[in-house]
Amino acid sequence: MNDRHDTASVPRGPIRRIVIAGGGTAGWMVAACLSKTMGKLLDITLVESEEIGTVGVGEATIPTMFTFHQLLDIDEREFMASTHATFKLGIQFEGWRAPGHRYIHSFGLTGKDHWTAGFQHFWLEGRRRGVAADYGDYCLELRAAQENRFAHLPRNGMNYAFHLDAARYAVFLRRFSERYGVKRVEGRIASVDLTAPDGDIRSLTLDGGRVIEGDLFIDCTGFRALLIGQALKVPYEDWSHWLPCDRALAVQTPCVDDALPYTRSIAHEAGWQWRIPLQHRVGNGLVYSSRFISDEQARATLLSNLQGQPLFEPRPIRFTPGQRTEVWRRNCVAIGLASGFIEPLESTSIHLIQRGVIRLMQTFPAERIAQADIDEYNRQARWEIEHIRDFIVLHYHVTERDDSPFWRHCRTMAIPESLQHRIALFRQSGRVFRAPNELFAENSWIQVMLGQGIVPQQHHAIAQLMNDRELKEFLDRIRADVNRTLAQLPSHQRYVEQYCGSALAPAA
Ligand code: FAD
Repeated sequence: MNDRHDTASVPRGPIRRIVIAGGGTAGWMVAACLSKTMGKLLDITLVESEEIGTVGVGEATIPTMFTFHQLLDIDEREFMASTHATFKLGIQFEGWRAPGHRYIHSFGLTGKDHWTAGFQHFWLEGRRRGVAADYGDYCLELRAAQENRFAHLPRNGMNYAFHLDAARYAVFLRRFSERYGVKRVEGRIASVDLTAPDGDIRSLTLDGGRVIEGDLFIDCTGFRALLIGQALKVPYEDWSHWLPCDRALAVQTPCVDDALPYTRSIAHEAGWQWRIPLQHRVGNGLVYSSRFISDEQARATLLSNLQGQPLFEPRPIRFTPGQRTEVWRRNCVAIGLASGFIEPLESTSIHLIQRGVIRLMQTFPAERIAQADIDEYNRQARWEIEHIRDFIVLHYHVTERDDSPFWRHCRTMAIPESLQHRIALFRQSGRVFRAPNELFAENSWIQVMLGQGIVPQQHHAIAQLMNDRELKEFLDRIRADVNRTLAQLPSHQRYVEQYCGSALAPAA
């Protein structure tokens, strides 16, 4: 039990007045979830400043967003039409293992597992005997991504996420939240007022003097972290020794091709570039390490690798990869960039916002804030983000690239012990075990570890029980099933136009 803070100083009495500071993706997702679920019990106010604006990126998601929308009863067509969204089946990593090499980390399942051993063991045995095709050929979502196809399938037979327009998503969620009673206040927060120098937050004072009081404050002010960082002084743990990228340039281009059903992640000399296809435009950006490349070089790299003319000058963004040591302190919970940011390689930030608000619902104070709830919230948040961090570090560290100082640094840098163990386990015996509540499942780790070039030295003996004919038939049957379904899928572009074309969006 953590007794760093005086429990008596946290508010007594029921928590009714919720103040959300910030109206980016985090602020409006929190507003939507709290108002839809507990709006009848709460008085929710969101403060945002149009003049300050939002970070303006964050457009690729992972399949958990589907679940989040189901919890809120959000209509998928309406959401996709309103945010000009497309479907996402995974991420294609280009040049990460070696220049010219590419692989897809898809959201699907690959092959069929046995309870003693995952499919990779049977596939590795098939490879040894020369009867197995590429690992990805046994995964429907991966093959659909390669062929630019998509359709919803019965019984959630297709695992997918979305590419969305972040600005339109905030507008969509604002409309949703206001229907459930959220009050929006426009204005710049000038000060965060505490009950005592080292006390709880009592109120926010806006430019012009308006005071907004509350019982519980949600800090969604982005990298500024006005409440958790500046007012409550919760330290930030810097992970840049594991995650070398600390800057980004973002720019949009018009669509020049059909929208792909996957994000492209293209490795460069000192970082990587994203391409996120939406219905009406493409989001692009370069994530890079300022230790290895200048801002000018980064800009030139990005601009020389675009399809179509940029719609505006690339926008610079600076960040420090890491996490607040506590994301809930006293009567303030930080969600979104205010709580920490790893980097966007696996599109996990919006997922962490969802997790943050769902966890808040699960630990929501009944009568008063309990320190044990705060401790549990912080423990779970840390556990989750550390697993994601390890997964991201894997992409940088396990590479054959040694063609630039950046990649030589990544290959040789120290990595977290937890990740060292994962890599050793897969390298030595082909095994992956998912930790409880870990976001990325076995198949994600396997796809990326194989994709980055790890070849397991051995695999489970159970696969040897099949003779050559049985093993070939087993593998061929899975591939034939994948191909049969694949052949029936329409093109992703056509499906999007018919299912959720932006012309179908409701009037604002
Ligand atoms: P912001 O969008 O910065 O919002 C902060 C809000 O606080 C704004 O409304 C602002 O006006 C308000 N505010 C700040 N100060 C004040 C003040 N003084 N007074 C009043 N209001 C104030 N995530 C993904 O899941 N997928 C991705 O593909 C992805 N790509 C990314 C790429 C980059 C380069 C970066 C940096 C991030 C990316 N993210 C991604 C993360 C994602 O952008 C964020 O998680 C998401 O946008 C949430 O941001 P936010 O709401 O916390 O902060």
